[in-house]
Amino acid sequence: MKILVINCGSSSLKYQLFDMETETVMAKGNCEKIGFPDAFHKHKTSDGRQKVYDSPMPTHLEAVNSVLASLMDKEVGVISSLDEIDAIGHRVVQGGSIFKESTLVDAEVTDQIEALAEMAPLHNKAHAIGMRMCHEALPNVPMVAVFDTTFHWTIPEKANMYALPYEMSKKYNIRRFGAHGTSNKYIVQRTAEMLGKGPEGTKIIVCHLGNGSSITAIKDGKSVDTSMGFTPLDGVMMGTRCGAIDPAIIPYIIKHCGVEVDDLNDFVNEKCGVEGVSGVSSDFRDLEAAAEEGNERAKLALDMFAYQVKKYVGAYMATLNGADAIVFTAGIGENDGEVRRNVMEGLGNLGIEIDIEKNKVRGKEADITGPNSKVKVFVIPTNEEIMIARETMRLIS
Ligand code: ADP
Repeated sequence: MKILVINCGSSSLKYQLFDMETETVMAKGNCEKIGFPDAFHKHKTSDGRQKVYDSPMPTHLEAVNSVLASLMDKEVGVISSLDEIDAIGHRVVQGGSIFKESTLVDAEVTDQIEALAEMAPLHNKAHAIGMRMCHEALPNVPMVAVFDTTFHWTIPEKANMYALPYEMSKKYNIRRFGAHGTSNKYIVQRTAEMLGKGPEGTKIIVCHLGNGSSITAIKDGKSVDTSMGFTPLDGVMMGTRCGAIDPAIIPYIIKHCGVEVDDLNDFVNEKCGVEGVSGVSSDFRDLEAAAEEGNERAKLALDMFAYQVKKYVGAYMATLNGADAIVFTAGIGENDGEVRRNVMEGLGNLGIEIDIEKNKVRGKEADITGPNSKVKVFVIPTNEEIMIARETMRLIS
């Protein structure tokens, strides 16, 4: 069985084609800058063949068609007919209160996912477009939506509720939905394996640090709290998202700082975070280079980020009453030893220490626990795609 996993963003589309007999990736790639004149599509096969396509991609439909063509390309293809694709699995960020589990996709489900865009403005609209375009290109192939929010339905009420009037929260479904659940699920499984036991009886804190960042407290394999909230804007500051701020700042900046109500979502999602503070970039590689050259605001943004992540780690150490493991994952968590060191520094009293040498690891699984640490500290590259492929296979069979 072959399953195509699609992760559609507002101007990007990432994909992986899995052979589920062996759970191996046959080919993968990404389309970037969809809708822009300099759009491109990079495709790679598991045996090392590569190609970059630069034909125009004004919409996601051209991107989907380019992906399907690349899978059958004479030089870099891995299948000879589109009939070989048995199903498509879509990553979806927000499932709201409607989708508590993965689901088969039809027109109605696609519309519902799109309607949830209010609670994931950067993501859900793009997911729905991706689904429609895939259906247009492959009308007979079943599709499954796998939601980032599903994993967090186990968070108890005391942690998932906001202190708004109770009736309002319930009537309007205002609660902590969280995100990165598919990543968390993968990390839980791998962490338990690395600890040499099952998820039952373990306490894990996952720091998923990427363009979007979240910290999650996991007990017995189940999410019990997470830093992202009603939308993926809550919690720690991110690349361009402000994270949790005093809610009174919102009316204040509308009144005094020239931010229009209609632009508010774009403002808090795209103009803030480490980029807003530093004025340099949302990319941690750029920030570190700038800080190295003496840019004080880049250094401040990095310090703020590490401080905020540390606060969540401390909070979850308290609410879980200790942890067996702290795990770093995603773009920053997997690659950026500097951030990991800054987050883990000064936690000796909580029994947490890392090994500075082992912490130099980049992009691969590692145990970076210090010699005196009571809590294990791991770097584990996440693999949302394999989880989506497995879930897709489960639902169609
Ligand atoms: P997304 O949330 O879009 O899936 P990723 O998990 O891919 O994001 O993370 C992307 C971010 O990871 C980049 O913006 C960059 O800040 C960071 N990153 C990637 N590689 C490195 C690296 N080698 N060093 C530091 N940061 C990195």
